[in-house]
Amino acid sequence: MEAKKIRSTFIEFFQSKQHYYVPSSPIVVKNDPTLMFTNAGMNQFKDAFLGNEIAKYPRVANSQKCLRVSGKHNDLEEVGVDTYHHTMFEMLGNWSFGDYFKKEAIEWAWELLTEVYQLPKDRLYVSVFQGDEGDKLAMDQEAYDLWKSIVPEDRIIMGSKKDNFWEMGDTGPCGPCSEIHVDLRSEAERAQTPGRDLVNNDHPQVIEIWNLVFMQFNRLADGSLKELPAKHVDTGMGFERLVRAIQRKSSNYDTDLFEPFIQALEKKSGKTYGQNEADDIAFRVIVDHIRAISFTIADGQIPSNNKAGYVIRRILRRAVRYGYTFLGFQQPFLYELTPLIAEYFGDIFPEVRAQQEFIAKVIQEEETSFLRTLDNGLKMLESIKSELNAKNEKVIPGKTAFELYDTYGFPLDLTSLIARENGFSVDEKGFAEEMEKQKTRSRAASESETGDWVLVHEDTGVEFIGYDFTETHSHIIKYRTITDKKGDRYQLVLDKTPFYAESGGQVGDTGWLVSDSEKIRVIDTKKENDLIVHFVEKLPTNPEKRFSAEVDREKRTLTMNNHTATHLLQSALREVLGDHIQQRGSLVNENLLRFDFSHFGKMSEEEIARVEEIVNAKVRENIPLVEQRNVPIEEAKKMGATALFGEKYGDFVRVITFDKDFSVELCGGTHVPATSQIGLFKITSEGSISAGVRRVEAITSKAVEAYLREQEALVKEIQELLKNPRDVKKAIESLIQERNDLKKEIETLHLEKAAGVKSELLKQFVEKEGVQILISQVELPNADSLKKLAYELKNEVSPALVVLAAKIEDKPQLAVILEESLIASKGWNAGQIVRDLAREIQGGGGGQPFFATAGGKDLSGLEKAVAKAKAMFL
Ligand code: ATP
Ligand code: MG
Repeated sequence: MEAKKIRSTFIEFFQSKQHYYVPSSPIVVKNDPTLMFTNAGMNQFKDAFLGNEIAKYPRVANSQKCLRVSGKHNDLEEVGVDTYHHTMFEMLGNWSFGDYFKKEAIEWAWELLTEVYQLPKDRLYVSVFQGDEGDKLAMDQEAYDLWKSIVPEDRIIMGSKKDNFWEMGDTGPCGPCSEIHVDLRSEAERAQTPGRDLVNNDHPQVIEIWNLVFMQFNRLADGSLKELPAKHVDTGMGFERLVRAIQRKSSNYDTDLFEPFIQALEKKSGKTYGQNEADDIAFRVIVDHIRAISFTIADGQIPSNNKAGYVIRRILRRAVRYGYTFLGFQQPFLYELTPLIAEYFGDIFPEVRAQQEFIAKVIQEEETSFLRTLDNGLKMLESIKSELNAKNEKVIPGKTAFELYDTYGFPLDLTSLIARENGFSVDEKGFAEEMEKQKTRSRAASESETGDWVLVHEDTGVEFIGYDFTETHSHIIKYRTITDKKGDRYQLVLDKTPFYAESGGQVGDTGWLVSDSEKIRVIDTKKENDLIVHFVEKLPTNPEKRFSAEVDREKRTLTMNNHTATHLLQSALREVLGDHIQQRGSLVNENLLRFDFSHFGKMSEEEIARVEEIVNAKVRENIPLVEQRNVPIEEAKKMGATALFGEKYGDFVRVITFDKDFSVELCGGTHVPATSQIGLFKITSEGSISAGVRRVEAITSKAVEAYLREQEALVKEIQELLKNPRDVKKAIESLIQERNDLKKEIETLHLEKAAGVKSELLKQFVEKEGVQILISQVELPNADSLKKLAYELKNEVSPALVVLAAKIEDKPQLAVILEESLIASKGWNAGQIVRDLAREIQGGGGGQPFFATAGGKDLSGLEKAVAKAKAMFL
């Protein structure tokens, strides 16, 4: 059975059992501080499990894009080395939200695997939670009895908390689970060792394929377990592993999910998969990682230097590096695999097809820059090696290896590999210590402790009324304290709130909570999944009271101006630059708006002006807002509403229209009632933020006023500085001209001076044992002229040794140059000589064996340096 068919069969099977099919949620998680990437199918249903939200359908089936490269579930180091862990993989799941429980979950799983997919029963094993004393949990007798009625008892294995108690993270929904394992070994091997001994033992052919989790608890911050309001089923089956089991392959990479990629890579590299283990790992790493990278970029996460972006960058670099070291790729190659991703995954995940060109561009740019880094790192390694050689040492210190890793992105195994090839080794223990130090540093910087929610009023759900009101009476449902380096911070949830929580680029509202006895400042509002969390300066002394929740209206109004302007900007950009414009990110606050979009060139002055004109024309038209809530998503799409890749939309959406032929967007933000409120729109900057992504910043209303005033004041100041000339531009031009003339004049003077110094010095050479030696103190305008002088002296006198002690802009500098032949004949080394002499001026330096320089702090040491050199050579 083909992979595609296996996937659709899964969905159809559960549809026939009244499950509703939901598409995968994005792989990049936005509104959850505890999670960067989706690491299991259950993430998008977390709120339903916790009871924060009522599930729309009691039974659901899906295939979820997952990424396990950070946090609690991190498989990165296994990937490629083994044949069944991926970074990105699809998790097939069936779900019950307070509906069926263990019996159906277990019976259906068995039916699907053995009757529909026809996996041989005698190759399957199941596991059951054995209980845990620490958590005061008994063994899962119910699951055991259910399995016992289906499979022989010797195929049931008892599992510990580590394997049979599933948890999403340190806190959150969890529960005992039953896993299904498959034994894919040959008959001969099976005859030798029973499969049950190999389950959960990291055997590459005896692997877990399906995990049936019975969600029953919420793990709290203090480590304790709390029963969930209802019991749920959450199952996750690794699609790639299932395909392998059904296709009877000994590796996930031999299935039709990966084969086309392996073949493409064979063609490109000229190597054959399956010939040599080291190369094979590289093959697997690359065909695995290209999926992870493509899918995350498609969902809006661009490689960068922090957080989620950095995780993606590291995965990409890992792939490039394996290609570079083992498959001989010295030029970008990964990006050329993106058309295959579009071809093989475009049907089920349309986002990778729609954005294929963009994904390729981003990857190519990253590859190019990392290959450059690799190159620089290699050069660094070269000079480290020659330094060690000079000292006759053979071990690269851990600190140096760590520096290479940290600043040049040079992985330890690559440093070790190159070191080994050159007869060196790396102090790996030292490296690990440095790594640990850094981890401790960053942990200390980011550590925070989230307290559990304290319930105040019964949780009846949260109502957001901020589209219609900026003030309301409300009650606190719950609050908690978060402690980190900066101290304590407080969060609370209201039953009814006008506060807009940061999302869709728009910042969260600020304002006040007012009761008859106190007034508490709300400093920010954010979403945590679907919960609206208010960040407050302090906790109320009496949280049970009724509060008046009041949004800072001034800030909200300015923010709204900028949000609506962002919509107008997006449409104007489409008109001016073309339909390929896709939003890549945005920020809207009370001061400015920032809009990132895919586009491959710099915008010209004219294009910018044109965009401004269009937006301002729309502002003057005073177009009224048309806001439609609860529009079925299909209908919204028919209206031509702009949606974002990587955004999670429900079945019903909000549509914001300003002129149905100009701007229709799916948007949850707050907007002006009519466009003239925006006043005036002005772009303040345009630039590139990464491959194929441009960033425009702009301002509106009051900010434009301030901007114009500033510009005007600036011109006035300039006029005054120039003593109010009639033509300011001309006055500046003539100033520049004058400056350039003077610069030239100074350069000529410097040259003349240096020539004078040189002819003076040529007279001072002394011959000693066949070498022309010059040791002298000079005064020069800059470091360049010192270097030039040294070279010229060496070229005119032969064989020469020149030591110059120069005063340059009131700082001491040394230069040593010598005829190359003297390195061998006399054993001299300019670098060593200069380092020796530099001690006299409290400095350091280095260079090549025939030429080296040093700078220092102590000007008075120049004379001593000269004396020392004379003592050494004369
Ligand atoms: P393993 O012990 O093999 O790492 P797990 O216990 O981490 O698996 P679960 O968290 O229970 O796995 O996830 C459910 C299913 O997802 C597993 O049964 C497996 O089939 C699949 N799976 C888990 N991790 C990966 C991965 N890194 N790559 C591919 N499939 C995976
Ligand atoms: Mg795992």
